[in-house]
Amino acid sequence: MKIDTKLTRLLGIKYPIIQGGMVWTSGADLASAVSNAGGLGVLGAGSMYPEQLREAIINCKAKTTFPFGVNIPLMYPDIEEHITTVIEHKVPVVITSAGNPNLFTKRLRSHGIKVLHVVSSLKFALKAEQAEVNGIIAEGFEAGGHNGREENTTLVLLQLLYRHPFKIPIVAAGGIATGSAMLACFHMGASGVQMGSRFLMTKESTAHQNFKDLVKSLGEGDTILSLKELAPVRLIKNEFYASVLELYQKGASTEELRSLLGRGRAKKGIYEGDLVEGELEIGQISALLDDIVSVETLMTTFLKEYELATQKKNF
Ligand code: NDP
Repeated sequence: MKIDTKLTRLLGIKYPIIQGGMVWTSGADLASAVSNAGGLGVLGAGSMYPEQLREAIINCKAKTTFPFGVNIPLMYPDIEEHITTVIEHKVPVVITSAGNPNLFTKRLRSHGIKVLHVVSSLKFALKAEQAEVNGIIAEGFEAGGHNGREENTTLVLLQLLYRHPFKIPIVAAGGIATGSAMLACFHMGASGVQMGSRFLMTKESTAHQNFKDLVKSLGEGDTILSLKELAPVRLIKNEFYASVLELYQKGASTEELRSLLGRGRAKKGIYEGDLVEGELEIGQISALLDDIVSVETLMTTFLKEYELATQKKNF
């Protein structure tokens, strides 16, 4: 089976499925496995020092001959070095997020790199289109990690974008983990999906086992969008979140929140497995995730679900 859409044609991939380039989880093993299975694997450069990114790109190229991408949050401290690295290493696709798409799109495209930008609202989607990105990832606030302030859900966001005649592909993200959800997104004008949480729960992701086991046990309402004063982030309601809540209840200032957050909390939680003190970033769809599988199994199951959904006429 092959699923032909504007996105697969743009990126030269078999299935319109992008693996979100998440911090601390998305290294060469995960990205190459997704690309080898017909999707677009993505390295998460937000948690990599420049030398680590270079190494990850080299490793990824050694493990796959298919296209892969790098996610670069534009607020990254050494952003110039990351941009130079992806150009030098001829990375096929760059996904930018959390910043102004005007900054690097033209430069990256002039080197033949396809650029997709993550947006949380129609307003930002229009800005990205003007910046001449090749595609837009429309991410609802169901998503884990850093998120939009508007709290648009994926469904609302897709409907807002649907009215505008975008020529470039729209990729739906946030709250997606099943083939039936991908079919629904196609009907809402999307040419593909990006999934983060679903791919975090694979054998190939570098998230700590403690974190993966906790995600298995999560139910509805166990994550929340918080810390809007700093950078809105969806996280698990653990002990660290309880301390954040306590500060809110005391009417704490932004500075007090920043000082509680400190540095490296996401690493502590996601990568080192400290479930108490860590910032545990995962999407709302974690309520549905109760197994850890290989990327290959995930993709096969997902595509079966998609096929079955196309045959159902129960509406
Ligand atoms: P912090 O400031 O709390 O910590 C920085 C972390 O990033 C450290 O753990 C550090 O690793 C690592 N790091 C990698 N490269 C650098 C660098 N050049 N300078 C400093 N630190 C670096 O930030 P966060 O953990 O909250 O976020 C880190 C990055 O990830 C940011 O760029 C942020 O925008 C991005 N991010 C993106 C998300 C998304 O959804 N797209 C979600 C969360 C974060 P070490 O401890 O080994 O020094």
